[in-house]
Amino acid sequence: MDYTKGAKGQAVQCLHCGTEIPQVPGVGRVRRYCRPSHGLAWRTRMRSAGWL
Ligand SMILES: [Zn+2]
Repeated sequence: MDYTKGAKGQAVQCLHCGTEIPQVPGVGRVRRYCRPSHGLAWRTRMRSAGWL
């Protein structure tokens, strides 16, 4: 997978709540959560489910 461009340019939805996240082309990484707290909540959920 090419992280330098691949996933950008297409709609990304928050892994936690499903909200569509506008991506900023060429700047930083692909955002996968609409807000940092949702990323935190997702990781906490994965950990409690035994993924980590
Ligand atoms: Zn979210």
